Amino acid sequence: MRLDDVRGHDRVRAILGRALERDRLPPALLFAGPDGVGKKTLALAVAQAAMCERPASGGEPCGECRSCRKVAAALVPERLEERRQEADRHPDEDVWRNFRLHPDLVLSEGWWLTKTGRPRAEPEIRVDQVRDLIGEIAGTPFEARRRVFVIDDAHTMNESAQNALLKSLEEPPPRSHVILVSSAPLGLRQTIRSRCQVLRFGPLPRAAVAAFLAERHGVPAAEARSRAALAGGSPGAALAFESEAYGRMREGLIGLLERADGLDPMGRMEAAEALEQSEDPALLLTTLRSLLRDVAALRAGTNAEALVHPDAAERLAPLASGRLGERAALLAERAGESRYALRGFANKLLTFDLLVDTLAGD
Ligand SMILES: [Zn+2]
Repeated sequence: MRLDDVRGHDRVRAILGRALERDRLPPALLFAGPDGVGKKTLALAVAQAAMCERPASGGEPCGECRSCRKVAAALVPERLEERRQEADRHPDEDVWRNFRLHPDLVLSEGWWLTKTGRPRAEPEIRVDQVRDLIGEIAGTPFEARRRVFVIDDAHTMNESAQNALLKSLEEPPPRSHVILVSSAPLGLRQTIRSRCQVLRFGPLPRAAVAAFLAERHGVPAAEARSRAALAGGSPGAALAFESEAYGRMREGLIGLLERADGLDPMGRMEAAEALEQSEDPALLLTTLRSLLRDVAALRAGTNAEALVHPDAAERLAPLASGRLGERAALLAERAGESRYALRGFANKLLTFDLLVDTLAGD
């Protein structure tokens, strides 16, 4: 994995490349930005470069030395996934989600399970996991030039875990580096943030996401464009749209729009409950908003090719000329607001209740 393999973020990559080239990588870094834009991927590329035995120009890893080969072998997605599943068979043993990718590289991820093996709504990085890392951070490299510790979703460290980590960041040993990766950096204590060099990652331009889908994943150009439009600058989100589950969710939403007009109270309640069950309410609401925008666009005479969901144009056209079409632009706005509300402390069922009510009209 090279720094250059990560799409976009030219400025951040250049800064890191220069630091690596001069062998002046900061001891503590915080990669902050939206999910799915390549923060973790770049963190792991930086780790590989910092550990490489024969770094190339621009601070890039050589890709051939023993260290580079070990890291590359550990980062094969299937292998990493196997290790996650293996960890989930030991939910009460905290350190199983500290994945050692090389004797001197650890990737730490949060638990989606409680210690008794029940699923959690949010991941959590546990304090004993962090204590284990701290011992390692204080040590010297086994075989590479540097040791690197990547903590993904660092904001999911619970309070004791953050307190435990703080000490390591205050007195970093000379050859250890900690890279915190987070889409919610404000979930980290200010004392932690202030000890890190913060690098901000923005969303990627739509064209870059579309090119990524087309070139790396062979998605046809038109489809790549519509998925990129939906994904809000996140290649990770754009890839998630591939899944069958996404197709089913979108189908459910189109169905809801088709019967929304004049839905009776019982039907509204059922619809809201169904929406509440969604695994990814943010994605659901983004999709709903884009469908409603397409309906509004069709009503305004936009060509089907220019829609976010061109393949659904035939289903959306009758909606555009009906009662829903009159209010589609406003409803799209409401869907966006609901998504925003759910990021705070809004009650999920109540939020969907209100939204379905608005869709159904009076
Ligand atoms: Zn190398």
